Amino acid sequence: MGQIVKLDEARASRLLPNFIADEWVATDSRFDNIDPTTGEVIGSVCASGKGEVDRAVLAARAALKGPWGRMKSAQRIEMLHAIARRINERFKDFVEAETRDTGMPIHFAEHVDVPRGAANFQIFADLFANVPNETFTMDTPDGGTAVNYALRVPRGVIAVISPWNVPLLLTTWKLGPALACGNTVVLKPSEETPSCANLLAEVMAEVGLPEGVFNVVHGHGADAAGQWLTEHPGVDGITFTGETSTGEAIMRAAAKGVRPVSFEMGGKNSAIVFADADLDATIAGLARSCFQNTGQVCLGTEKVYVQRPVFDEVVARMKAVAEALKPGRPGEGGADFGPLNSRTHQAKVLSYYALAREEGAVQVTGGGVPAMPDHLKGGWWIEPTIWTGLGDDARVVNEEIFGPCCHIAPFDTEEEVIARANATEYGLAASVWTRDLGTAHRLGAALEVGVCWINSWFLRDLRTAFGGAKQSGIGREGGVHSLEFYTELRNVCVKL
Ligand code: NAD
Repeated sequence: MGQIVKLDEARASRLLPNFIADEWVATDSRFDNIDPTTGEVIGSVCASGKGEVDRAVLAARAALKGPWGRMKSAQRIEMLHAIARRINERFKDFVEAETRDTGMPIHFAEHVDVPRGAANFQIFADLFANVPNETFTMDTPDGGTAVNYALRVPRGVIAVISPWNVPLLLTTWKLGPALACGNTVVLKPSEETPSCANLLAEVMAEVGLPEGVFNVVHGHGADAAGQWLTEHPGVDGITFTGETSTGEAIMRAAAKGVRPVSFEMGGKNSAIVFADADLDATIAGLARSCFQNTGQVCLGTEKVYVQRPVFDEVVARMKAVAEALKPGRPGEGGADFGPLNSRTHQAKVLSYYALAREEGAVQVTGGGVPAMPDHLKGGWWIEPTIWTGLGDDARVVNEEIFGPCCHIAPFDTEEEVIARANATEYGLAASVWTRDLGTAHRLGAALEVGVCWINSWFLRDLRTAFGGAKQSGIGREGGVHSLEFYTELRNVCVKL
């Protein structure tokens, strides 16, 4: 069983303990937290054993019946606002933790990841405070009347399993609605990016969230904390973001006890550029969708289809943008392109770069590892890469790479491009670039995805439904849709 440690002592020894029932819990089983820009060890993470996972789930169960469970919804909403305010007060700490764990550029942390981390608490708190419940009045067989009304009750203990690519944003996207609905949570953050979970635990303690409402168990996935948490019978629902193959494993775990799941998973997203598009805006958006966060965005584009009259121009302009990206450490010398997140991920992306050559791709730019200054040589750097010339059946055109790369292919007709973009087992997102309103609306309806952007990318209104079609997800979160997973409807029928 783990030992209770003091936060300042853990900090001083660069140790990330677990957070269980308001206590910092260290274990002897440790793994390294690594800076992806240098490959250096920057801290040590305490892996939860089965005992810690069990304690966290029991603490979360007990908290459902404690002060949190009895709290008036207005108080709960105020507590979520306090969490959002505290994240903003500690903005710099979050930016530092996120950039150190992931290597993401400072501006991405400052303008996307951390602000959304705070907004995810505030917006869901406001939203759920204003959602009406359904009522139906009915005639009864004896000539009388009955009234039905629905109550929304928290689902219970929610297991949150999160990935490493945009850690704070993706974790709070689940924590915000889970807590706003009155659930309690056990979070298993990615083993690659553990720091923001501990900062969140500090924030929860600072605003006085009752004991056991929020718990963090660190560790790996299979045969480790992730698996033990999702298999735990005390968990009432599992929300997961990560790879589709991991989702399959979690679904098997969830089958025992018939626990509901909400899954946001992999993608192989298309961008479609019509010849009438505003090419300046298109290139800016397309480049962001391919290369932002070093291509480690689930919504990112890896397949680009360009209508033949503008194909050569789009390829040339995308090449110029890719070659202008400046790899480097967050905040150092104007760097706007970070490393990949881990050695394993770098090996995976490079294996696809090699595969593209084997499959006969024309390498327009990139394809390897950039030369870096001495102090960054140990990091997991990668070149932004563009290919052309592959057929639709090439593996590089069909499998999720999750790196800063895309294949650009020409197309002729609308009908043809819809079929080609839809010929995938994934269905997360797409973007369409055109000035023709009819084309835009037809594509929006025809593409088999959860989110279709027209003349934009990654423009998110948190009130809208978000999730993947096909093997990219199960269920929708966002706005009132999150209620479907984080609460249960209880119907009360009153005979008058
Ligand atoms: P991953 O599936 O490897 O890991 C995600 C989390 O699952 C980690 O916390 C990991 O420890 C845990 N895990 C792994 N095996 C497990 C198991 N057997 N049981 C329980 N937990 C387990 O994913 P990743 O590499 O961290 O993230 C990248 C993937 O996430 C990509 O496929 C990307 O498309 C996807 N993603 C999707 C979205 C979306 O909204 N659809 C958002 C971000 C990332």
